[in-house]
Amino acid sequence: MKLALHWKILIGLGLGIVLGLVLNMVGPGVRSAAGPDGLYVAALDFAINLNQLLGDLFKRSLQFIAVPIILFAMILAIGSLGDLKKLGRIGGKTVGIFACTAFSSVAVGLLLVNLIQPGGSRFISPEAREKLMASLQTESASKVMTAAKSVKPWDLAREIIPTNPFDALVRGDMMQVVVFALLLGVGLSLLPRERSAPVFAAIEGLNEAFILIVRGIMHVAPYGVFCLIVPIVANLGFAVLSSLAAYCLTVLLGLAVIQFVIYPTVVKLFSRMTIRDFFKGLAQVQLVAFSSSSSAATLPVTIQTVRDRLGVPADITSFVCAMGAKINMDGTALMQAVATVFLAQFYAIELSMTQQISIVFTAVFSAIGSPGIPSGGMVMLVIVLRSVGVPADGIAMILAVDRVLDMCRTVVNVTGDAAVAVAVAGTESGKPGSAPTAAA
Ligand code: ASP
Repeated sequence: MKLALHWKILIGLGLGIVLGLVLNMVGPGVRSAAGPDGLYVAALDFAINLNQLLGDLFKRSLQFIAVPIILFAMILAIGSLGDLKKLGRIGGKTVGIFACTAFSSVAVGLLLVNLIQPGGSRFISPEAREKLMASLQTESASKVMTAAKSVKPWDLAREIIPTNPFDALVRGDMMQVVVFALLLGVGLSLLPRERSAPVFAAIEGLNEAFILIVRGIMHVAPYGVFCLIVPIVANLGFAVLSSLAAYCLTVLLGLAVIQFVIYPTVVKLFSRMTIRDFFKGLAQVQLVAFSSSSSAATLPVTIQTVRDRLGVPADITSFVCAMGAKINMDGTALMQAVATVFLAQFYAIELSMTQQISIVFTAVFSAIGSPGIPSGGMVMLVIVLRSVGVPADGIAMILAVDRVLDMCRTVVNVTGDAAVAVAVAGTESGKPGSAPTAAA
């Protein structure tokens, strides 16, 4: 019997979690028994490092095609949308639905964090408080803090326009690449057909070649996912996790509402695709997003899957997914809102209604600015914290548990792109998302 790819990936993930847990459990015992130079310690470190290396190779091979795929797919999308009126219409719908899901996501987060009060004394005992305060001094925390403190909202807005498009490509700045592709696509569409046709034909060939590379990489995805997850689970410390359990559960509950209420509603409202087909088609993408914690690295798989398995037309897929990978980060926006109110509760800072409303807007915008990379949302969280006067050092505290939450919100972020692509296709064709057109 031939197993579908998403089952293989799921098995890889499950086995990786089991091996990671084993390494995590035997690790401390082996280290204290054998001392730092023991053979078993070396074997243990080797196992973790080898998995880390292979996992990184898998993730890097996806990242390697992300920029060319955005560039080519977006130019083609704009070319095949034909006229600029249609581009404006699709763009308007896309941004409109993105905005609706983002604001509803943050609202859900704020509602839950105010109801549950995970930062209140009900959930955090004085001892846990002390332990958490101690975590403020860790090295990784100070690294994120340094990155976070250098983020300036004005610069982010200014840098939307690249001063040199090739430099944007080299640095892999997704927002700038989208803007470059958009402008070049529009420019080409305005040229007479006989001038633009050969350029589009060449780009089409390149785009197809990259899609083929994605398919190839996906064949090794079960192993890649296995290797990515082993070191994560093996290195995860569970001590601080328990004192932040209420915070984690609040975020996870919010993510579940987005994933299983908001997105299905969007798909149902605007398309005729069944929710079952939607989630079944997306299984591979979600598993890659979960294990890589990067929506930018997952983008090539998202584009291929939304097009081939959900049957969304190629132009709409490329346009919506490429934009979405940069600006549609509902899971991140929710986390930033929940984390801000959680830290305010922790530091006993009273937030007024107006401040909470301002969090809605700042969280939506700082999520847009968050890069689709692991912990990308953590760096931008500082903007939301500052806007309501919550000490930014609090980030260090929640960093300890962010690994798992990051994996889950990345799944939500990519699912959002797919849901909106299906919705926009639905409003365009009247025969939305249609049936899946290709098998795995
Ligand atoms: N890892 C997330 C993503 O790539 C961003 C975040 O940290 O929230 O979508």
